[in-house]
Amino acid sequence: MIEQLTRLGYLLLILGAGGCSTQKDPVFHDQFFAFGTLIDITLYGAELPLAESVCKQIEQDFVNMHASWHAWQPGQLSSLNSQLSGAGAGTVEPSFLPLLDEANGLSLLSEGLFNPVLGNLIALWGFHDNALPVGTLPDSTAIRDLLVQAPSVNDIHIDGTLISSRNPTVAYDLGGFAKGYAIDRAIDRLRESGIHNAIVNAGGDLRAIGQHGERPWRIGIRHPRESSIIASIEISGDNSVFTSGDYERFFEVDGKRYHHIIDPRTGYPAINTTSVTVIHSNAATADAATTALFVAGPDEWLSIALKMGISYVMLIDNQGIIHMNPAMQSRIHLEPGINAEIRLSTPLQ
Ligand code: AMP
Ligand code: MG
Repeated sequence: MIEQLTRLGYLLLILGAGGCSTQKDPVFHDQFFAFGTLIDITLYGAELPLAESVCKQIEQDFVNMHASWHAWQPGQLSSLNSQLSGAGAGTVEPSFLPLLDEANGLSLLSEGLFNPVLGNLIALWGFHDNALPVGTLPDSTAIRDLLVQAPSVNDIHIDGTLISSRNPTVAYDLGGFAKGYAIDRAIDRLRESGIHNAIVNAGGDLRAIGQHGERPWRIGIRHPRESSIIASIEISGDNSVFTSGDYERFFEVDGKRYHHIIDPRTGYPAINTTSVTVIHSNAATADAATTALFVAGPDEWLSIALKMGISYVMLIDNQGIIHMNPAMQSRIHLEPGINAEIRLSTPLQ
């Protein structure tokens, strides 16, 4: 599956950087693996030595962030989790605070549908690590016990660098948000270095700034059930395009798909949605929003998008119906041959 995603990441990249292989386009590319996916950086019009050195720095940043934010491998986050477990407290490095603050704030805006302290539930499902042994589902009593405890960011108290929890089942898992936050930091680095036309793409989730010469960047959106794209979007200026899909990590038991986006209200993978795409300036917000709107599903996505300040959404439900707001419809180009029913919502802005 990783290999498939990698290839798809490459497909998206080609769309994003159209014309990158021709000699007259001053396009610089760098690629490396982090956060379990291919990270692809495309710079337009940057001097070669500067481009190389900034991309090296960004690669190092990603490696450090990934190691430090891992929910279960030794690092800052896993040591915070072990200190918080059993309603404890622990200190973190000051540089860690903005990450936690932003994740907690987005969780509140999403009414807890994006819930970054669901780590114990994610672990029960086996998505924090190697999957459960083939053909097994988590123990339903263990799921129910966690639901009763209802871990939430409201249980966390931050006082300087001291983080404490009043709920013994709180454990951070930033899988729904960390990539976006890391991409925002990469864009900060590029701008500090004077680079203003770039895309940072993490396996199809990306933030673009500036434009590709005279043209906007063109971004492909993956079809949730086929290994091709369903639509494309042209973006210029500062825009992040993020997608959450039930095809990214899943296993099947008796022909039923159990995927990695968990509904905090039921303790089970969210039903009714196959993918959600969001455009927003900030990548961390876009990342948290795709996870929240996936959980919200076709009936509730509009109200959660309004609360999170998201202006462009496309949600594909489990019947293949495409839900979107009018502003998104005016930006999106469905691929020829896509004849899905489209349900337009009331405007989001
Ligand atoms: P994404 O692909 O951005 O939607 O993120 C999915 C990842 O976020 C999963 O692999 C989990 O690590 C984590 N996750 C799952 N469900 C939730 C949720 N409801 N809120 C926050 N994070 C979640
Ligand atoms: Mg997300």
